[in-house]
Formats: sequence, C-alpha cells, structure tokens
Amino acid sequence: MQKSSKNSVKKYSVWEEVFESAKPMTFHAFNTGRITGKVKTYSDTTSFPAAIDGNMALDCDMMAFSFKHPEKGDILIDCGFSSSFTDNPPYGNLSVIMKIFQKLNNIRYSQQPGEDFENHMKRLHLKPTHVFLTHFHPDHTSGIPSLESSCPVFFGKKENSFYYRLIGGSHLKGKKIHLLDFDTNGFALEPFEKVLDVFNDGSFFAISTPGHTKDHIGYLINNKPTPQFIVGDAELNRWAMENGIKVNTDYGKQGKKDVYKSSGMIQKFTKLYPNIEVHYSHDELVLDFGPMG
Ligand SMILES: [Zn+2]
Repeated sequence: MQKSSKNSVKKYSVWEEVFESAKPMTFHAFNTGRITGKVKTYSDTTSFPAAIDGNMALDCDMMAFSFKHPEKGDILIDCGFSSSFTDNPPYGNLSVIMKIFQKLNNIRYSQQPGEDFENHMKRLHLKPTHVFLTHFHPDHTSGIPSLESSCPVFFGKKENSFYYRLIGGSHLKGKKIHLLDFDTNGFALEPFEKVLDVFNDGSFFAISTPGHTKDHIGYLINNKPTPQFIVGDAELNRWAMENGIKVNTDYGKQGKKDVYKSSGMIQKFTKLYPNIEVHYSHDELVLDFGPMG
C-alpha cells in the first residue's frame, strides 16, 4: 500500500518562529553497529584536502534516532542494523547485491552484544508508530522487518524506484509505505528550499537534502530546550564536514551537484542556529590513519 504525504501547510516564514513553538519531547540517539571501510568509498575524492589519504580507514557508528510525540507516540528516524548482524555476521539481512558490493569494497560491518535495533526498542521501551527514513540505503533500513506491520514507513517519493528496492532487498516486505513529496507539498524555510511540516503542528520537519541519494531527507525535531537536527548521510560526519570532505552520491553528476548544494544549506543552517544539536548517521567515529589493505 502506498500513500502520498498530506499537504503540509506553511505556517512559518523563519525558523525562529518554529523554535518559539518548541515542546519538550524525549529524544534518543542510539548506535546499532559499526562500519569500517576506506574513506574514499563513502566520499567525493575530488573534495579531499591534500593531507587526506583516500585509503585511510574510516570507522564509524550506525546511528538511529527516536522521539516521543505528545499525540503520535514513538517516532523513529531510521532503524540501523537489526539483530541479523549478530546472528549472521558480517552483513546480516542485506540483499545479495549489497553483500557482494560490501565484500568487493572491503567494507566491514560489526555489532556488539545489545547494540541491535530490537534491543534498543526493548531497552528504551519504544513502540514505534511511524518510521521516517533519511534515505533508502540498507544500513538504515535493516531493522524495518522487526517493526509491527501497522507501523508505516515514510521516505522520499523519488526513492520509490526499482534501483532502491533492489538494494533494499526484502526490508520493506509487508510494510505500509507513505511517500514524502517535496515538489508538491514542500515550502521554503531559509536556508532550505523545501521542507515539510510533517504533522502540521510544528513539532517535526522533513528537510529536502538530496545528493547522497535522490530524495535524501534531513529532519528537525522541534524539541525544547534544544532542537535536534538529523543530518543523516547528507554529510558523511562531523569530521568530514569540518574538513570540507563531501559525501558520495549514487546518481552521478547531478547527484554530486546536489551534494554540494545540500551541504551548503546545512552548513548555513548550523551556523545560523548554533544552539541546535546536530546528529549524523555515521558519527562518533574513530579514525585509524593507517591505510586499509
Ligand atoms: Zn547512505
């Protein structure tokens, strides 16, 4: 079943107005595993400063996020790795195509006991009513099969394609899908060109940040006292952002252009509102400066 997102009505002209209506909502960021690969696999090598060796190993976490909306209940942003990464290491419930890709690129996935998505749901007593994806890459969707079938999955309309379904494998099987349509329903909220007021109550915004993927989405949880900004994979991580290293794209030249454009908007936003907490899907990294074999 597929539905398009409902009309998002523009009630705000600047983010300051949004932040004035912030409400306290319990927020969690949780780590579901670890990814280790060469930095060049995840980034645009033409953006590298001279001192950066593309073969150096990048060791980073696989984050997912949640908040409790006062009426809608527990809202998830991405799911990260399910327990299949503990049961069937190293690539868990990834599709065959993705398993081959990871192997060819010498990418290692791992999960410590208790890090799996299912355990976080239990530990934090979460009963998700909605899951919103930053983008349709399988490291972000692996936990979806463990959700109740009544929990709908929201993602960008342009990622409802054969390509993304192919790399996602069976992660969406039996799930209700809702597509977020920025072209029809989005409005500008500087410095972003297209955002959606998801529940039409100012609590949660989807922010169009394409480039890494066709319809990548950042999210703003309008939390009090500190709003939370989920950057997803629009930036590789904090270290990359601070060093001008841009994330890779999966749709060629236009994708690369979009990466730079989205990154520009994100950096402007974080400078304009330095009190916001910024979260990356692959942050809390430890860098090992030795090259990978
Ligand atoms: Zn990704």
